[in-house]
Amino acid sequence: MIKDAINGYGTNGKRVADAVALQDDMKVVGVTKTKPDFEAKLAAKRYPLYVAIPENAEKFEKAGVKIEGTIEDLLEKVDLVVDCSPNKVGAQNKPMYEKAGVKAIFQGGEKKDVAEISFNALANYDKAIGKNFVRVVSCNTTGLTRVIHLIKEMYSIKKVRATMIRRVVDPKEDKKGIVNGIIPDPVKLPSHHAEDVKTVLPDVNIVTTAYKVPTTLMHLHSISIELNEKADVKDVISRFEEEPRILLVSENDGFTSTAKVIEYAREFRKRYDLFENVIWRESINFEDNELYITQAIHQEAIVIPENIDAIRAMFEIASKEDSIKKTNETLEIGKLKL
Ligand code: NAD
Repeated sequence: MIKDAINGYGTNGKRVADAVALQDDMKVVGVTKTKPDFEAKLAAKRYPLYVAIPENAEKFEKAGVKIEGTIEDLLEKVDLVVDCSPNKVGAQNKPMYEKAGVKAIFQGGEKKDVAEISFNALANYDKAIGKNFVRVVSCNTTGLTRVIHLIKEMYSIKKVRATMIRRVVDPKEDKKGIVNGIIPDPVKLPSHHAEDVKTVLPDVNIVTTAYKVPTTLMHLHSISIELNEKADVKDVISRFEEEPRILLVSENDGFTSTAKVIEYAREFRKRYDLFENVIWRESINFEDNELYITQAIHQEAIVIPENIDAIRAMFEIASKEDSIKKTNETLEIGKLKL
């Protein structure tokens, strides 16, 4: 049983905690919050709660929210911490993890040098074996990396060009966002996503662009992969059909937008979490040496299985195939196929 802490029980952290709790080879020893809000109250009902910023302990006491101690107390009890704090805060937390002698997983909001390797389960599970510090790449990078890796196993890739149409904020982020407009983000092209993909797939020639639009549900990726050889669309579809972390959907079934995809997920999944890349079957096309794919990525959920697989790799307790199979079964990944 690998004893885990989740530092930062936010969008990502609450999902990682629930996913760890479903595994039989790891457990949640505690989660942290910075302030005693409704999420802290909910967290305390589900898991032992610790305060992420020790100076704030009194605020919890005053609000009547029971805590078991501080992050430092929690680190004494665990083998690994999954850092799910906001962008760039993970790097500030790293010295605390080093001092406590625990392994740590960082998220995609951190720079790549926070960890020994950047991780995607399908593409480079074995690189994380035995490592102390691993970064699970961001939602967009996870979505791109999975697809590019699968195509790379089938064909010789000349270059990849991808455009990310990004949800502007997560649903709960009421202080940020736009209600009317499109944000070129970044304005100066290309976007950083290509460089991030190369932290996992260093030999892929990829350039990306990205724009934010007023939606909170999912990102949408328009991908074109130029190949050095001819591709057979039927073979690509078959490969995607057999990969549990890909969910093929069809316009014929009424999946006309990300709104419809989420409506489907609402029927089956807590928080409508989609751990799979959602690819439109009809979008997969091969024209003039280029393979075209349109996919939607549920930003809040896509990296959760990767965090679980990274834990197994870091403690060398399962092979890539065994870990992915176990994670898929426990999170019911692959069960939504129509
Ligand atoms: P979030 O804001 O929802 O959650 C962050 C949590 O960390 C909050 O509960 C906050 O109170 C807490 N926190 C603040 N300061 C802290 C500190 N010093 N120590 C510990 N906890 C602290 O953020 P999120 O969306 O869950 O993002 C977390 C990480 O996951 C980021 O690196 C982000 O880039 C990455 N990520 C986010 C998404 C997404 O779409 N939400 C997708 C993939 C990866």
